Amino acid sequence: MPLQIITVPCLSDNYAYILRETNSGKVAVVDVPEARPIIGALKDLEWPLDQILITHHHHDHIGGLEELRTATGAKVYGAAADKHRLPVLDFELSEGDSFKLGNETCEVMDVSGHTIGHIAYLFNDAGAVFSADSLMALGCGRVFEGDFPMMWETMLKFKALHDDTLVYSGHEYTMTNAKFALTIEPDNTDLQIRIKDIESKRANDTPTVPASIGLEEATNPFMRADLPEVKALMSMQGASDADVFGAIRKRKDNF
Ligand SMILES: [Zn+2]
Repeated sequence: MPLQIITVPCLSDNYAYILRETNSGKVAVVDVPEARPIIGALKDLEWPLDQILITHHHHDHIGGLEELRTATGAKVYGAAADKHRLPVLDFELSEGDSFKLGNETCEVMDVSGHTIGHIAYLFNDAGAVFSADSLMALGCGRVFEGDFPMMWETMLKFKALHDDTLVYSGHEYTMTNAKFALTIEPDNTDLQIRIKDIESKRANDTPTVPASIGLEEATNPFMRADLPEVKALMSMQGASDADVFGAIRKRKDNF
């Protein structure tokens, strides 16, 4: 594995991720909900931190940033579009930019919708994408700042990735998402099978993330708004994909 990935639970239901490129020993962290668990994990691993990668401005993703920066001296990466409301960035990123973590290339995806300027970090060769509150396991983030067509465009960007790319999202919301997904597609057998797996993972207090893009495409209703069978279940035959996506998102907001 060229990229080791350690999941660090933070706050009540956030995940931060520590990444190590094994050839160079370069280390990054994606999002800093709070500093202490990340500093503790780095100390246990004896890994010096080089890069802090920020996905978006919400406090539960940057709350520990300054403490972690001070403790490690790591360089901070974030969206240029978000720089007015993020702590000072060493590197300002936009869609299509790429940079290196050791020998691995990371590509920047604009995945706006939950917020404007939300970015995801794609390590295509390693088959990992860090999506935070855009695409989530069996769900997607609430659309706070963008609109439904924008968030649907974001879903299409994720659908375009390789099926075996693993999606590392920012929260453990999967059980609630699963219950909601079943109300949209009660007869989806892939979904039923996935829920059994989620239940056993949660019973053992194991994270349900990551999951593959292929599995999300088969089970996540927000990725499936373009399918005729899902449109029919929503009684929206003939509606646009973005409108069906928006209707599913609105239902989830009231779930
Ligand atoms: Zn957020």
